[in-house]
Amino acid sequence: MIQVNRSGEVWVFAEQREGDLEDVAIELLSKGRELADQLGVKLAAVLLGDKKAEGLTEKLGHFGADKVYLVVNPLLEHYQTNSYTKVIHDLIHKYEPQVFLCGATVCGRDLAPRVASATKAGLTADCTDLQIGDHEIRRTGEVHKDLLFQIRPAFGGNIIATIINYDRWPQMATVREGVMPMPEPDGNRKVEVVRDEAHLGTQDLALEIINQHIEEKKVNLKGARVIVTGGAGVGSKANFKKIWDLAHCLGAAPGATRAAVDLGFIDHDHQIGQTGTTVRPSLYIAVGVSGAVQHVAGMSDSKKIIAINKDPNAPIFKVAHYKIVGDLNQVVPRMIDSIREK
Ligand code: FAD
Repeated sequence: MIQVNRSGEVWVFAEQREGDLEDVAIELLSKGRELADQLGVKLAAVLLGDKKAEGLTEKLGHFGADKVYLVVNPLLEHYQTNSYTKVIHDLIHKYEPQVFLCGATVCGRDLAPRVASATKAGLTADCTDLQIGDHEIRRTGEVHKDLLFQIRPAFGGNIIATIINYDRWPQMATVREGVMPMPEPDGNRKVEVVRDEAHLGTQDLALEIINQHIEEKKVNLKGARVIVTGGAGVGSKANFKKIWDLAHCLGAAPGATRAAVDLGFIDHDHQIGQTGTTVRPSLYIAVGVSGAVQHVAGMSDSKKIIAINKDPNAPIFKVAHYKIVGDLNQVVPRMIDSIREK
């Protein structure tokens, strides 16, 4: 376990693939910037990879990093659990950050627990928010200042839990993709690059990667300005065509609730919510969606929400800006007709 270092930096794992940063790394920089400013410390990105990664340091600066810890080694070309854990563990021991954040991606969900275990730190997985705050231990009256409040849904999404870790450092969290806003880049920001070594041998690689196939997502929900989501209330896969048609008229992406996915109306790539994608479009139209907490967790930050439901007491109306109480089989075709007339 490393000593508590109150002046330690805030670190963000700059996840990259083939020399391209993952969006979540940039989202984390925006939150990391806020946390670092509140703590009065530097924000650093941790970037590992082969030569291709070197081109990313400037971009990390433009998106808010003061510093980049850069480790370049041919053995770091592809993410691998053992090699990445070893390098990050060594960096943490050397530079003692107080916060270390990873995206809750496939890679981040694998890496963060290994790093937490290697450094004997705590870890909160799948956070939806992070804040800085003070905490008093009731038993002793001891007050811990400037802790990282790690906020995430718990008990199946029925409560929002705030988790703190006051005696194990760094404070570590993985953060859901899409929950933090994308910052605007500032091309004038300069970044300090700290190059470090990877003490690795081929024995640190558990896998030999022979071929890589990247499955394309069928829909880009995160980038969509308008989303039309269908729920179980749509009734059948055939009737889900109404959702596709409305989405098509509006140039929108079709989304779905988990119930609609489970019923086979649409593919899982379209699922929005706690176990799907988190979205924040300009316009979100929820059709035949009840508004369960697990769904709302993934869409409530949308700028404008229109809900269509035949039940006037449906919980979705609590988060909707515009409420249409009615049968979707009548409302949706009329919406399509009036949009087409324009
Ligand atoms: P229902 O709750 O069945 O609602 C259907 C709605 O359609 C009703 O409000 C009804 O009034 C309305 N309706 C019916 N007919 C019509 C009509 N003709 N016209 C207008 N309205 C009509 N859910 C998610 O969506 N995303 C997640 O990521 C997710 N993750 C989960 C994780 C966990 C651990 C758990 C336990 C659950 C999760 N769920 C998730 C499931 C969630 O709890 C709900 O079951 C789900 O969101 C309900 O989907 P729904 O609103 O489509 O269906």
